[in-house]
Amino acid sequence: PPADQALVSAVLGPPGPAQRRAIAKTITLLESSRDDHRRRADEVLNTLLPHSGRSFRLGISGVPGVGKSTFIEGLGLYLIGQGHRVAVLAIDPSSSVSGGSILGDKTRMEQLSVHEQAFIRPSPASGTLGGVAERTRESMLVAEAAGYDVVIVETVGVGQSETAVSGMTDLFVLLQLPNAGDDLQAIKKGVMELADLVVINKADLDEAAATRARAQITSALRLFGHHGNPAHASHAVDGAPVIWQPQVLQLSALKGQGLPEFWAAVSRFRELQAAAGRLAERRRTQDQAWMWERIEAGLKSRFRQHPAVREALPEIHTQVRAGTLAASVAARRLLDLLN
Ligand code: GDP
Repeated sequence: PPADQALVSAVLGPPGPAQRRAIAKTITLLESSRDDHRRRADEVLNTLLPHSGRSFRLGISGVPGVGKSTFIEGLGLYLIGQGHRVAVLAIDPSSSVSGGSILGDKTRMEQLSVHEQAFIRPSPASGTLGGVAERTRESMLVAEAAGYDVVIVETVGVGQSETAVSGMTDLFVLLQLPNAGDDLQAIKKGVMELADLVVINKADLDEAAATRARAQITSALRLFGHHGNPAHASHAVDGAPVIWQPQVLQLSALKGQGLPEFWAAVSRFRELQAAAGRLAERRRTQDQAWMWERIEAGLKSRFRQHPAVREALPEIHTQVRAGTLAASVAARRLLDLLN
């Protein structure tokens, strides 16, 4: 529809209130569960796609209370001061379960949220984690097309949402508190392996503890050798070894101490990765993995909705539970119903 063409033009148009409204409207359209909205959103997204991709994508995670919003507000304002435009998006895993939110309260990032050069959008409110992540990923493309050159995607340190965020960003940051119990938990969960940078926040509270945590995490990261995340493959596209080792920084988001050093580390990462061709390769790998993740999710839901499957399912369930039909045979029979 012509309305959607106007929407696209406004997203691609000059920064200002009209552009903001257009971005918000576009995201609302792609968050809609109506089929006709989805079709229109797909069109809009594809039109915007060639204009997207020109941002640096920063993923940030950490447990509730670690200081994510304080950090993002401080960093966002700092980056705007450097001439950047900053979009902040979120994946709230609690929303897919309860419709509630860990990340969602409105008073967060008070200064950043009203800043002209910032665009903040809370997590999509419902759906599976995969669905919520999909909306956020698409919103990121919209923000990029509108010229936001730094996109921050935030999530909470629970569940699979960290994997989703590291799978859609160029650099994944894990925020930690300066105490060891917390560090060990992250190490155990394997989340640490996703991190390109680990930031120990609230260093102002206990400088000594922060320094200790920094040493501990640094040696833990060496132990991992960083094999956990395929995005960290140890060779560049042309076969040259990649020079980046995950780093650990300490800072105080509240006092704004350490933000320039943080951004310097991010910029170094970006230069090294870009020079080695890894930044573009990481995105290509992510796009492909994303497509397959969505295909699998889509197939599963279509399978469950398929009339023949729905009809046969109760009886086959009963037989499998009764032990009269092998689970693998049951699965094959059900899958054959799709033909
Ligand atoms: P989030 O739940 O991860 O978003 O955490 P918040 O940003 O809401 O911060 C939780 C609490 O920690 C708030 O009371 C912040 O003021 C405080 N906080 C955040 N960063 C720091 C810091 O660097 N030092 C200190 N002392 N407090 C901080």
